[in-house]
Amino acid sequence: MNTYNNDTIAAISTPMGVGGISVIRISGEGSVETADRIFRSAGGKKLSGLKGYTALFGKLTDDDTPLDEAVVTVFKAPHSYTGEDVVEISCHGGMYVTNQALRLVLKNGARLANAGEFTERAFLNGKIDLTEAEAVMDIISAKGKAAARSALNTKEGRLRREIDEVKDLLINEAAHLSAWADYPEEDIPEVSNEVLLENLGKAHDKISALIKSYNSGRAVKQGIDTLIIGKPNVGKSTLMNFLTGVQKSIVTDIPGTTRDIIEETVVIGNAVLILSDTAGLRDTDNPVEKIGVELVKKRINSCGLALVVFDASRPLDEDDFSMLELIKDTPSIAVINKTDLDCVIDTEFIKSKAKRCVFISASNGDGMEELTKAVEEITGAAGFDENAAVISNERQYQCAVNAEKPIAQAIEDLSAGITLDAVTVLIEEAVQYLLELTGERAGETIVHSVFSKFCVGK
Ligand code: GDP
Repeated sequence: MNTYNNDTIAAISTPMGVGGISVIRISGEGSVETADRIFRSAGGKKLSGLKGYTALFGKLTDDDTPLDEAVVTVFKAPHSYTGEDVVEISCHGGMYVTNQALRLVLKNGARLANAGEFTERAFLNGKIDLTEAEAVMDIISAKGKAAARSALNTKEGRLRREIDEVKDLLINEAAHLSAWADYPEEDIPEVSNEVLLENLGKAHDKISALIKSYNSGRAVKQGIDTLIIGKPNVGKSTLMNFLTGVQKSIVTDIPGTTRDIIEETVVIGNAVLILSDTAGLRDTDNPVEKIGVELVKKRINSCGLALVVFDASRPLDEDDFSMLELIKDTPSIAVINKTDLDCVIDTEFIKSKAKRCVFISASNGDGMEELTKAVEEITGAAGFDENAAVISNERQYQCAVNAEKPIAQAIEDLSAGITLDAVTVLIEEAVQYLLELTGERAGETIVHSVFSKFCVGK
């Protein structure tokens, strides 16, 4: 079981930098008392006399020396983010003032919170489950609308409710099976294989849909490792610059200019791409260029998407043929660029080799809608439903995969006429993994590793 001291913790919850307001959050039994030691309200009221969800205006003071004006809000346990007494001090957002205010708090009874410790306390106090806690991080790191909406749905319990439904189906069946086997003298109705199979089938469908959601969710949330490849001078850097909206890559008409890999995260439609502009792929004797080319070839095998750029105004050559060969097992889109010029390239040949083919002009933006559609389809972002229950990280994914296996096995065993005892064990195994997913039965190490990824102050 996870335990924690109910000691008083504090941290700056707003980003470090100059801004209108900074918030220092304090949580724990002594939070109101700590704040009372350093805050003098304008009307002379003490924070300890306040009801929850109320605020006072006044001054932060170090002994009797004023530091800054502040609005202090009090939240009373259990009706707060952490489930404990919480105080939030909003002071002016200067770096000096904010740091000094935190120091004051730490000098007067609080200790500095660890990364994610406020949310960890919310979890340990049963305010949220582990999927909801992880969604807090996803909301903060969301790069696009769909990712933010989906994370908010998860925060509000969309994934937890789906897992609860699977768990309930399984627990009901396991309980029925155990009662029937353990108490034969009682009048417990016989377990019907048909009903059992039907419910296991329902549980399996739900968990399989969740597992599938991870892939499309990845394109929307974490981002897909995407390479822009093609021969020198086909317009890779121009495309990169168009997609990022900034001049990152050097555009020249000298072949082989881009030698280093330049990375940038962009949102295209609903898909997040971690985009790399690469050295032009061609057979070369230049040793520096050769290293770049080899590096790109290695990365093609591990990337999530390759945008393979061709120059419409030049005929295909050996370099193009070998590139089409290189990407045959990689999710890829053939991007035929420079369609504003006369088209001499053999588009039928490219279409016969590539999974998708789009026509663009990177210099004037023609065809970008078509490219967006293709990216969304190939990455799975097109099928992403922001209102559905979605698995959003590797931890959740592994738990779901581990839960799916025994359910599938139980269905197979049941159909093959294997004893109900063995099926019960498999169902119980699946339930354990689902409890781990929601955090109801997750070890201390797992919980700590989840919260250690958070920032301090969250
Ligand atoms: P890279 O070597 O593949 O990165 O190619 P660059 O992006 O540096 O472009 C090479 C040349 O092609 C530059 O002179 C660009 O201005 C030009 N170029 C890129 N895209 C287009 C396009 O869509 N139409 C035309 N006409 N020229 C383009």
